Amino acid sequence: MGGFFGAVSSEDCVCDLFYGTDYHSHLGTRRGGMAVDSGSGIVRKIHDITNSPFRSKFDDDIESFHGNAGIGIISDTEDQPLLITSRIGTYAIVTVGKINNLPELVAQIFADGASHFSESCDGQLNPTELVAAIINRGRDLADGIARAQEAIKGSCSMLLLYDGFIYAARDRYGRTPVVIGEKPGARAVCMESSAFPNLGYTQCYELGPGEIVQLCADRIIQKKAPGDKMKFCTFFWVYYGYPSSTYEGINAESARCRNGAIIAADDHVEIDSVCGIPDSGIAHAIGYSNAIHKPYLRAFVKYTPTWPRSFMPQNQKVRENIARMKLIPVQEQIEGKKLLFCDDSIVRGTQLRDTVKLLYQRGAKEVHMRSACPPLLFGCPFLNFSRSRSEMDLIARRAIATLEHGEVTPEKLEKYITYGTGEYKAMVEYIRSALNLTTLKYQQLEKLLIAIRLPKDRVCTYCWDGKDIDA
Ligand code: SF4
Repeated sequence: MGGFFGAVSSEDCVCDLFYGTDYHSHLGTRRGGMAVDSGSGIVRKIHDITNSPFRSKFDDDIESFHGNAGIGIISDTEDQPLLITSRIGTYAIVTVGKINNLPELVAQIFADGASHFSESCDGQLNPTELVAAIINRGRDLADGIARAQEAIKGSCSMLLLYDGFIYAARDRYGRTPVVIGEKPGARAVCMESSAFPNLGYTQCYELGPGEIVQLCADRIIQKKAPGDKMKFCTFFWVYYGYPSSTYEGINAESARCRNGAIIAADDHVEIDSVCGIPDSGIAHAIGYSNAIHKPYLRAFVKYTPTWPRSFMPQNQKVRENIARMKLIPVQEQIEGKKLLFCDDSIVRGTQLRDTVKLLYQRGAKEVHMRSACPPLLFGCPFLNFSRSRSEMDLIARRAIATLEHGEVTPEKLEKYITYGTGEYKAMVEYIRSALNLTTLKYQQLEKLLIAIRLPKDRVCTYCWDGKDIDA
């Protein structure tokens, strides 16, 4: 997906920019980039971070950066930041999102007289360059950004570094967060507010959907007011978001603990201990364990010294192998025990099936699984992820295809989506059996939203129900 960080300061901002960008490393695996306004122009560096973290790749560059304003990116796709010289100014730009109508927008820009694009990504046009091309048609930067927000189908949040300031813009429907922090003489903007505390910033403002602001060292100037409609990605609270981050005033770790407690309130199973699938299942499991007053134990520990990041290589087989190597079982916590695991979600199920097999080989008596969200039935059309989630990869979709012997009508699919129907129960039982679990339960969407404390019309729930204003 990717994540960005920007800082404007009355002093040199490079240290904040370096660490602030690095704090978004869990959101992407392919490219890292920084651009700093030195006062006499913008200096930029981009590195491949596929096999080495952002921090080690940029360590040697830090000395060459100096300036009071800068933007940085962890990108899951294209090279960024791009440096753009245009009729309305020279600026650096980073974007996070997914452009679903890219061919139409490119055709429109050529039809309007543009002759070429110069950047490419995986043999295709660099989406950030396309965003810049739309912006450049505006009366000024704010107007150009507003045009891009309006034109793009999918999602796009962005930062622009221009003339010693930062323009920050949130996606039209606010699918990704854009958060501002302040400290004396400086302002910073990011996606993960977990970047703020250790850099001395206090979170002071969250952009609304479609809002555009100009960030100065001592103030925030609104350039476009937020829109009414919001579809914040619910998965930020379930999985993607860093635990210490807060979005819409709701901390990810706390929401996950509440969610685990709500799952436990509906559950009546005899177990010895509660465990989380590291890392994203842990907070849900702690909430569950505290609610039923059973011990939270680590049946697996994650080996992090050489595998520090949660997202891994693009190749699925390599990724699964790395995921297996990272989780080391703790024999004493498994043997002879009835274990209940919480995980953020069940995607393909392949890794979970191997984990369950390993638990039985290690002597587990029972393995119960609780998913922190409902069955995943739709691939995400709004954000770009390093791990693809095409619909037929999803174990719940494969279960339905098998149960229905192929063709599934929209009416039939709706029955599988609806909690408690005969179809829903058959799908869950199919998955339980395929994964060799003692019991399996999924959190209900309504209860997940109670844990998150946001109404359904303010969040995106497309992964689970296929419903969205832009679908
Ligand atoms: S479809 Fe799922 S992952 Fe994509 S924005 Fe919506 S909730 Fe998030």
